[in-house]
Amino acid sequence: MMLCSNLRPSLPHLFSMRLLGTAATRTAAVKQPELLPASLTFEDPSAFRVKSLGELLRALGVFRLCSFPVLVNNCGKMMTGARILLGRRGFSLLLRPTVYAQFVAGENEKEISQSMGKMSLLGLRPMLAVPIEEDLGESTGEKRYDDNMEAMLECVRMSHSNAWSKDPMMQLKITALLSPELCVKLTTLLACQPFDLSHLVRALDGTMITFPGLEEKEAVHFLCGLRRLNKIAEASVNKVRVLVDAEYTYMNPALTLITMALMKKFNKDGAWIWNTYQCYLKESRSLLLEALHLSQTEGFCLGVKLVRGAYMDKERKLAEKEGRVDPIHPSWEETNKSYNGCLDVMLEAISQKPDRYRIIVATHNEESVRRAAERMEELGIDKDGGSVCFGQLLGMCDHVSLTLAKEGYPVYKSVPYGSVDDTLPYLVRRAQENRTVLQGIRKERDLLRQELRYRMRLRGQKLT
Ligand SMILES: Cc1cc2nc3c(=O)[nH]c(=O)nc-3n(C[C@H](O)[C@H](O)[C@H](O)COP(=O)(O)OP(=O)(O)OC[C@H]3O[C@@H](n4cnc5c(N)ncnc54)[C@H](O)[C@@H]3O)c2cc1C
Repeated sequence: MMLCSNLRPSLPHLFSMRLLGTAATRTAAVKQPELLPASLTFEDPSAFRVKSLGELLRALGVFRLCSFPVLVNNCGKMMTGARILLGRRGFSLLLRPTVYAQFVAGENEKEISQSMGKMSLLGLRPMLAVPIEEDLGESTGEKRYDDNMEAMLECVRMSHSNAWSKDPMMQLKITALLSPELCVKLTTLLACQPFDLSHLVRALDGTMITFPGLEEKEAVHFLCGLRRLNKIAEASVNKVRVLVDAEYTYMNPALTLITMALMKKFNKDGAWIWNTYQCYLKESRSLLLEALHLSQTEGFCLGVKLVRGAYMDKERKLAEKEGRVDPIHPSWEETNKSYNGCLDVMLEAISQKPDRYRIIVATHNEESVRRAAERMEELGIDKDGGSVCFGQLLGMCDHVSLTLAKEGYPVYKSVPYGSVDDTLPYLVRRAQENRTVLQGIRKERDLLRQELRYRMRLRGQKLT
């Protein structure tokens, strides 16, 4: 293995980048004159005017259920029980018109196209997500990873070859193509000696290379995984932007290393491969600064998905169990500060080189969305210049997505698809990860109710 400093930026540079970020934060703290349209208060129920009566009622019903913590916390067990009790068909009949219709685009291309076509009419863009992921102890064989690759290649094809495909994105979980155990081992090895990116790029190209520290079987699996990823990237470049998800801290360094190698190979002239940064991590800012530095030294365009992070409870439990320092910020407020800081760093970089950097502000948090829009205005970043966009999950916070789209910002909805059985584990994990958001969607429910009352009044007037 070659040792290198590629993934370890020099301190003076990091320091100057940190100063850049700090300065940006300070500028933002000075209250600017009112620059934003009033609609970005997200108080306008007419954002829901585009929804049918059935959709309004379904959203209200599903969100009402999600407001009970006991239901969200135990939804996995309850769904498994219901499936046994009702049988596959009965369970599907119950779920399809309700939870499934709210959060999943459909099962086959026809259904997905119908949902996406509708979304596209509302000005929302697609970010398809194949609902496959693995954690430790769930590893499957090489054949299964090859099947997952085929499913992702199909996702690439579907994403760009339909009338609703406008600058499409898709999400990708590396652990669907490479065993989580190997990602953990690579992470451990990386802590002692970083891999050379050029070395990995050669492996992506199909060159047989050795990775000291890995047993022969692991090295072979790693090469197979890299080739699977290479195939997906080759199919998507110039067509679909591939956003690699961040997962747990015990494997993220390996995921980032692989993603950086993909960026080095495929992002020479544009950001086609993106990485995700979780701002609940204490180290998120320095990780982002490292990525910015690396993109400069290695000469690739950087695409960033900025999230708060989905695995807080498990990360904390694990750190406590292993006697490690908690990697997560101590409070939601600290995570918010971290999110704002990272957002500032990226927007500052974009304002200087909009063709080299891109960001998706992936959050349901209205304050973060407003802040991003405000900073864009202050820094003179075009709404529709393509370097900044917003992202929310399908079926969640539509009042934010629809309002942003109405104001001319590019907005993506992360859209899972597949059969009820295939999407169920994904839905359960998402519900649990997003339970704070799900339980806090009171405002969306209020706006839905206001829109419902408006329609009833209108109907009453027509009848009289
Ligand atoms: C398009 C899209 C893609 C995503 N991709 C990923 C991904 O690749 N990887 C990933 O991990 N997540 C991903 N997420 C999920 C995301 O990380 C959040 O879990 C989710 O969006 C909720 O955060 P929020 O900013 O929307 O809402 P908010 O309600 O503003 O924030 C909730 C989040 O704040 C943080 N938080 C809450 N309480 C505390 C506390 N006490 N201390 C510290 N922090 C706290 C947690 O991260 C929690 O999820 C994605 C989300 C979207 C919309």
